[in-house]
Amino acid sequence: MQKQVDVLVIGGSAAGIAAATTGKAFYAGKSFLVVRREPQAVVPCGIPYVFGTLQGIEQNVIPNAHIEGAGVELLIDEVVSIDRQAKSATTAGGVEISFDKLVIATGSQPRVPGWLKGRDLQNVFTIPKDRDYLAGVREKLESCHKVVIIGGGFIGVEMADELMKKGKEITLVEVLPHVLSLAFDSDLSLKAEGILKERGVVLRTGEKVQELAGRDGRVSKVLLESGDSIEADAVILAMGYAPNVALAEKAGIKLNELGAIRVDEYMRTEDKDIFAVGDCAEKFSFITRIVKGLMLASTAVSEARIAGMNLFGLSRLRTFGGTIAIFSTSIGGITFAAAGVTEALARERGFDVVSAGFEGIDKHPKTMPGTAAQFVKLIVNRESGLVLGGAVTGGVSAGELINVLGVVIESKLTINELLTMQFGTHPLLTGPPTGYPLLKAAEAVEIKLRHLAPCTEKNG
Ligand SMILES: Cc1cc2nc3c(=O)[nH]c(=O)nc-3n(C[C@H](O)[C@H](O)[C@H](O)COP(=O)(O)OP(=O)(O)OC[C@H]3O[C@@H](n4cnc5c(N)ncnc54)[C@H](O)[C@@H]3O)c2cc1C
Repeated sequence: MQKQVDVLVIGGSAAGIAAATTGKAFYAGKSFLVVRREPQAVVPCGIPYVFGTLQGIEQNVIPNAHIEGAGVELLIDEVVSIDRQAKSATTAGGVEISFDKLVIATGSQPRVPGWLKGRDLQNVFTIPKDRDYLAGVREKLESCHKVVIIGGGFIGVEMADELMKKGKEITLVEVLPHVLSLAFDSDLSLKAEGILKERGVVLRTGEKVQELAGRDGRVSKVLLESGDSIEADAVILAMGYAPNVALAEKAGIKLNELGAIRVDEYMRTEDKDIFAVGDCAEKFSFITRIVKGLMLASTAVSEARIAGMNLFGLSRLRTFGGTIAIFSTSIGGITFAAAGVTEALARERGFDVVSAGFEGIDKHPKTMPGTAAQFVKLIVNRESGLVLGGAVTGGVSAGELINVLGVVIESKLTINELLTMQFGTHPLLTGPPTGYPLLKAAEAVEIKLRHLAPCTEKNG
């Protein structure tokens, strides 16, 4: 079967949907087709909640109406080859699709290290964005009590937190000294670890897994390099994701040193009619400019929107400037969020930084029901006063406050601009105007920058 479209998008998850629907909004007269492997795509960020908070995988799917309702055609099939010269792609179902522009949004898949002996034993699971596989994992975990999670990044931590809600015995193994250490400095990682431990999660940080051992073909133990072993009815590998680029590579599209599709700031590959967005595309840091492997849906969608807007004409005003790495999660009901660089990374890359934090409240007065502590930390370049990073912990509103901080970083605002900014407040919704934690944290940084002693009741 032959098909002809103006824009073909391969992949229909976060990035593919955003590229197609944004493109359609900007170029309403063009035809858009999304080809996606699975009939139902899961909400990727909602996956951990399928194992605790939600009733099942059915509560965590992206409605196809998001695509079709925007005037974009959806074809459930798998693209198996791309012919760049002929500007066509072929699917497993035998459809040959000619296109004017192509957007590759093929995403990522879990990394399973080749060195990990025992990785093929029964009850060793990964967390792919695959509805049927995840439904199977959920069912099999019902009869497992002792679960070992390998990897203390946000997916490992979220899985631990959710499975605790089901009364499982959870051990989390992380090779680095702390969990979540790519997002947070050790002060906040320690805070997160404290909450996990309070909830009963056994943390084995700074420990490397050597192999998985089994009995009758099923995993029974995780062996650590230290010589210790942990009993396991099931093991979840949360060891990162690899860009899904086999299709692009086969078509001769250039990859970078981390195996992601190389793109420019318009999200174009070296072929000017082929774009790549989301987890399969190259990432670099907004602050350090270093190429990195960080994969976030928020970054994927931002890239996809930029590709969608630039499909039929480039705009110098609509470019991707690098990932701000805005990250948020909830551990034991407490929000942990970060944006930009950590203090440790900033120093490692050569920035002279000053950091300070302030703990206030997220409603006011503090007697207001549901008031939570809200802590804001800012990381500021001493020489320029530019805000390079920060973190927020607290109640639900911390998840939006980190987006404010993201805007501050992306807009290249200095500490002085932040100090004079106006923020709306309300007793039921925000911290107090007199003690708005973001502004008080900025004040704390300024005091340090000026080498001033903080005001106390005694001296102030
Ligand atoms: C458990 C988990 C929790 C997460 N939580 C968060 C979070 O809280 N916040 C956040 O920002 N990010 C989170 N992420 C990361 C986020 O999910 C990814 O960054 C996001 O899914 C990337 O979207 P994507 O569209 O690029 O790729 P993917 O979601 O990987 O989708 C790729 C799509 O392409 C399809 N595809 C691939 N090859 C073909 C082909 N040849 N033909 C047709 N279709 C094809 C796939 O089937 C899939 O539908 C989480 C990830 C996981 C796994």
